[in-house]
Amino acid sequence: MKMTFIGCGAADYDWSRYGEAGILGSTATLLNGNILLDCGPTVTAAMARWSIPLENVTVVVNTHSHSDHFNVDELRKISGGRRIPFYGSKEACAQVAGFCEVHPLTYGDKFTVEGLQFTALPSNHSVEDFREETFNYLISGDKTLLYALDTAWMLSKAKNLIGRTFIDAIVWDATMSEPDDWRIFDHSDPVMFANMRRVMEKTGNISKDVKIWFDHRALTLWPQDAAEQEAIAKRENVMLAHEGESVTF
Ligand SMILES: [Zn+2]
Ligand SMILES: [Zn+2]
Repeated sequence: MKMTFIGCGAADYDWSRYGEAGILGSTATLLNGNILLDCGPTVTAAMARWSIPLENVTVVVNTHSHSDHFNVDELRKISGGRRIPFYGSKEACAQVAGFCEVHPLTYGDKFTVEGLQFTALPSNHSVEDFREETFNYLISGDKTLLYALDTAWMLSKAKNLIGRTFIDAIVWDATMSEPDDWRIFDHSDPVMFANMRRVMEKTGNISKDVKIWFDHRALTLWPQDAAEQEAIAKRENVMLAHEGESVTF
């Protein structure tokens, strides 16, 4: 599986300054060059920046409708009149049904796009309408990826849907770089992460060799210095997701 990090920032960036040093874009990831996970406000600018033609995107899968992950104007640009498939909550689908082929999801749904099998997991996160479902994804092809953002603690329903699946790689919500922040009810910090990682090793879902990337990093909750950021990743034995970088596993 190949993964390209289109954007790695949380919602506290001023995206009118996108392109300036230190300004991360809205979190989005391209899988195998054609499946776009999330489509926030900087996605088309980022794709131009990383020389990825918009028409390469053949399907969009959405985690949730927060504005840093879901932007109708950006989706319209990517769709470009092609009526591409869009998977997400029924509320998000309703907003793009005029120009996308919509596939409303509910927890536990399984679907296949571009040869990858997706399972829609409940994330521990909420949008303004608390009844609207928010998703993480278990994605299997030649390897298995857990795409876990935005989310706080993994919910038991998500763990049950994962079952005994062996996970090769995880993109993890790393909104906070330190514990004890009030956002723990919607997002993750390294202490929460380390606890979940240890338990997932015990349950056999991951091995010591699992590849983990910290993504969705908040401007105000991470040190500004890049070396300090890398030191946190090294301490936690993970990698930072870097914008514009492609990785294979
Ligand atoms: Zn977010
Ligand atoms: Zn969110």
